[in-house]
Amino acid sequence: MYVVPTPLGNLADLTRRAEQVLCEVSWIAAEDTRHSAPLLKHLGASARLLPAHQHNENEAAERILAKLQAGESVALISDAGTPGISDPGARVVAAVRAAGARVVPLPGPCAATTALSAAGLPDAHFLFYGFLPSKSGQRRQALAELSAQPCTLVFYEAPHRVLETVSDMAEVFGDRTLVIARELTKLFESIHALPLSEALAWLKADANRQRGEFVLLVSGAPADADDGEGERVLKLLLDDGLPVKQAAKLAAAITGAAKNALYERALALKNQD
Ligand code: SAM
Repeated sequence: MYVVPTPLGNLADLTRRAEQVLCEVSWIAAEDTRHSAPLLKHLGASARLLPAHQHNENEAAERILAKLQAGESVALISDAGTPGISDPGARVVAAVRAAGARVVPLPGPCAATTALSAAGLPDAHFLFYGFLPSKSGQRRQALAELSAQPCTLVFYEAPHRVLETVSDMAEVFGDRTLVIARELTKLFESIHALPLSEALAWLKADANRQRGEFVLLVSGAPADADDGEGERVLKLLLDDGLPVKQAAKLAAAITGAAKNALYERALALKNQD
């Protein structure tokens, strides 16, 4: 089974290998067969289609396995981008591999990597989160859990939630750099970097800035964010013989620094011993 990324918007982004595979396989398992029909027609692909979406992944996996076991080839595609990246596909892939059949991934379009390549954020690492919870309380909680991460954070967001999400980000993360990557590879593509504190006003200044598909990238927690009190107290507690977890918890409670970040730091300090 081939896992085949399809364009995010610009048809020319389909790789030659993807085109070849889609034109040669006997079956194409698609997230939405109606959505993918125009692309496949454009390619002249004559494979038969079968649906593989989030509500039928187990059943789709069984159908796909049956085709593979009968010696037929299958390509798995989603509506746009790479299957399995904030898209269905993982369960089908797991079932196919568990049955001993080969899964062949093709590299190709993905909104997260496309946005990262043009974001210009200097962190050496990134954390791909995808979609945040849609309810504000849960969203803030998720953001708080990420706030000590020293790497670029990559989120997907829908246009009707972009204002509330950016507002929550500004509140939870404080003033870091936000890169708003919108409508990548499409006519109205725009990539704009600005301080999180200015982002809400910038988005509201023009309704067009809130339209389309979004990748939101936030720069990582500054390395020296917990340089002072948190680490000083943490070291005292560790020197006094407290276990890592307890020392991090207490240091966080005493200084208000992020517990997760202190825990990671405590582990690193222990490893240096
Ligand atoms: N599997 C896809 C991938 O590889 O990127 C992602 C699918 S997910 C259901 C759709 C989300 O990806 C959108 O809500 C948006 O956040 C992001 N996205 C997809 N196409 C995009 C584009 N052209 N520009 C910016 N973001 C995009």
